[in-house]
Amino acid sequence: AHDDEPPYLRGLNAPQREAVLTTDGPVLVLAGAGTGKTAALTARLAHLLYTRRAYPSEILSVTFTNKAAREMRERVRRHVGDAVEGMPWLGTFHAIGAKMLRRHAEAVGLQSNFSILDTDDQLRLLKTLISEASVDEKRFPARSLAGFIDSWKNKGLTPRDLDAGESELYANGKGQQLYQAYQDRLRALNACDFGDLLLHTLTILRTDRAVLEQYQQRFRYIMVDEYQDTNSVQYLWLRLLAQERKNIACVGDDDQSIYSWRGAQVENILKFERDFPGAAVIRLEQNYRSTPHILAAASGVIANNGGRLGKTLWTEHADGEKVKVIGVWDGPEEARRVGTEIEGCQIAGKSLDDIAILVRAQHQTREFEDRFIAIGMPYRIIGGFRFYERAEIRDALAYLRVVAQPADDLAFERIVNVPKRGLGDKAVARLHQLSRALSVPLSEAAARILDTDELTGAARKSLGALVGDFASWRQKANDLPHPELARQLLDESGYTAMLQADRSAEAAGRLENLNELVRAMEEYESLGAFLEHVSLVMDNEGNDGGAKVTIMTIHAAKGLEFDTVFLAGWEEGLFPSQRALDEGGTASLEEERRLAYVAITRARRRAVILHAANRRIYGQWNSSIPSRFVAELPKPHIDEETTMSGGESLWRANWSERADPFADVARGTGRGPGWQRAAGVDLKNPGGSFTTRTFTREPARVKEATRSAVSIGNAG
Ligand code: ATP
Ligand code: MG
Repeated sequence: AHDDEPPYLRGLNAPQREAVLTTDGPVLVLAGAGTGKTAALTARLAHLLYTRRAYPSEILSVTFTNKAAREMRERVRRHVGDAVEGMPWLGTFHAIGAKMLRRHAEAVGLQSNFSILDTDDQLRLLKTLISEASVDEKRFPARSLAGFIDSWKNKGLTPRDLDAGESELYANGKGQQLYQAYQDRLRALNACDFGDLLLHTLTILRTDRAVLEQYQQRFRYIMVDEYQDTNSVQYLWLRLLAQERKNIACVGDDDQSIYSWRGAQVENILKFERDFPGAAVIRLEQNYRSTPHILAAASGVIANNGGRLGKTLWTEHADGEKVKVIGVWDGPEEARRVGTEIEGCQIAGKSLDDIAILVRAQHQTREFEDRFIAIGMPYRIIGGFRFYERAEIRDALAYLRVVAQPADDLAFERIVNVPKRGLGDKAVARLHQLSRALSVPLSEAAARILDTDELTGAARKSLGALVGDFASWRQKANDLPHPELARQLLDESGYTAMLQADRSAEAAGRLENLNELVRAMEEYESLGAFLEHVSLVMDNEGNDGGAKVTIMTIHAAKGLEFDTVFLAGWEEGLFPSQRALDEGGTASLEEERRLAYVAITRARRRAVILHAANRRIYGQWNSSIPSRFVAELPKPHIDEETTMSGGESLWRANWSERADPFADVARGTGRGPGWQRAAGVDLKNPGGSFTTRTFTREPARVKEATRSAVSIGNAG
C-alpha cells in the first residue's frame, strides 16, 4: 500500500482491488459470505466517482433492499462527500424501475403519474375480472391468479408471450385471457403493480430503440449486489442496459441464493459468463467477518448441497468461541434462555445493536417479543411487522375485543366487513348514524338496525348473521377456554376459510401467525388478561433511538452482520420448514440449507443455535427433533449443551417415540407425511452425515485448518 493512494483502496486485499480497479468490461465477483463483496462494490463506486470516470448520474447501482441502498450511499459519502447526492440510480430494482417508468410511461399506455397498486387493490381487481369471465372464484381463487401473474412478470413474460402450458396453470387455460384483461384494466386505471415496474421498463427498452440507446449511453457503469438472487426479468433488463458498454460488475454467492420462491435464478451467474464473454471472474477467499469456528460450521453445513460452484474460504481471525448449540425443553424456555444470554452480553458491555435473533418463520418472533416485554429488553423487528401489528393478528384481536368489550367501536369497524360480507361503506355509515342517535356502541346499533327497515337484502342478512355470531361467541366466552373460543371464532366468522381459499405463500404464513396467536393465548389466564397484555405490548413501541436487539427473518438478514447471532428453532418441520419437507425434492431442501448458511454467516464473533424438544401447537405438545442442519455442523467446531434434566436419555426416548411413523397419527397431532419422512432420515442414523466427511485439522495453523475444512466437497 502506498501512502498517497486514495482512501477507499486502503486495507483492500489484492482480488478486492482488482474488482475495484477493473473498471472497464464485464466483471463477476463470485465469493462466499463475508469476503468483502459489498465492500469492494462500494469502493468501486467511490473509485469511479473519484477518478471522474463517470458522473454520479451515470452509474446504475442495484442493491437488494432499501436498507442496503442507504448503507451504500452512506459508505460512498465517506469517500466522495456530497457528490453522492446526485446518484438517482442507486437503489433497488423496484425503485429504479419506477423512476424509469415515470419518464416513459406513455410508451406503455400509462401517464407519468400512474399509481402503484398494493396487494389488496390487486386482488379486488382480479376478483372482478374473474367473475366477469364467468370463472368460479371458489375453485380458482384470485390469489392464485395473482401468484401466477407475478411469476410470469418475474420471468419477463407479457400476456402475449405466454404459451399454452403457462396459460393452462389457471382455470383450465384462461390464464392468458385474464392476464391480458388485468393488464388492460390496469392501463385504464392508469395504474400498475410491482411486477410491472420492471416488466414495463423491459418492454420499453425492447421496443423503443431510441430510449434503449439513451440509457445505454447514460449508464457508463452498472453494478449489482446480491446478484445470485436476480430473477429473469431483472437479468434481461440488466443485459439490455449493459450490452453496449459492457461495463457491468456483479457480485454474488451461489450459496446464498434464497429467493428462488420469488423467481430468482441462480443460473444467472452461469449466464453472465456466457452473455458477457471475456468477463473478469474474481474470487475473494479471505473472510473478514467471522471467526474460524463460525466459518467452518457454516461451510460444514453447506458442503451437503450438491451442484455448487465451490469456493475456498479462510480467515486470519483468532479461533474465538465454538458455535454453541443449545437444546431446550420448549419454546418459552428458548425465549427465556436467549433473554438471559443477552443480559449476559449487556453485562459484558456489548451493545444491544450488535445482537440479532434470526428466525426461519415470522411467527417465531412472538415468543421472543413477549419475553422481551416481560423483562424490559428493547428490541426491533426488521423486514416485517411486530407480531401484534400484523393485519391478520389485528383482525383476530378486533373480533376478540368486540366479544370482550361490545363498546369497542374501532374494533367493530375493523372487522364488520372482514371477511367481505357485503357490508360496505354505506351500511357502515348507517350504523354510525344510528349509534350516534341512540348513543349506543356500533355493535349494539347493529342489533337495533335489524329492527328497522333501513337495511335490505344481502346486507341485512349478513349483518343479522354477524350479530347472532357475536351473541353466540359471548356465550361461549363463559363456557369455553379462551384459546378454544378464539379458534371457533376464527372458523365461524369465515376468517380462516378466507385465508385457506388463498393459496399464496403469504396466506400460509398468515394462518401460521393465527395459530401462533392462539398458542400465545394459552399462556394467559383469561381473555381479559390476554387482551390486557396485548395492549401493553402495543404501547411498548417506543422509538427512543436507544440500542435494541434486532429480531428478523433470515431472509431479511441477507448481507447484514452482527457481533452475536442467535439462531432459533432449528427443528425439523420448522427449519427446514414443513413446506420444504412436504415438497420432498432436493431443490427445496437445498434452498433451506443455503438459508442455514446465510444465517450462520451473519455472525461475527458468536453464533448460538437453539432447538426445542417440544413445541406447543394448538394446545397440544408436539415433540420435535433437532434440525438435520444441527447434525451437519462439524463436531470440532461446536459446543453442545442441553438444559433438560435427564438430558441424553430423554432425547433418546423422544427419538424412539418419533421413530414410530404412526405415533403422530395415533396421538392425533396430524403431521403430514413429510414430517415422518424427515424424522426417519435423522432417526435411523442421527449422526450419520458426519461419516461422509472428514475434517482435517491442523491445530497449529488456524488459517490452514479452516481452509481445509471448508474446501471439502466443493469441487466445482
Ligand atoms: P455477504 O455475502 O454476507 O453479503 P460480503 O461479501 O458482501 O458478505 P462485506 O459485508 O462487504 O462482505 O464485508 C464483511 C465484513 O468484512 C465487513 O465488516 C467489512 O467491513 C469487512 N471487510 C471487507 N473487506 C475488508 C478488508 N479488505 N479488510 C478488512 N475488513 C474488510
Ligand atoms: Mg454483501
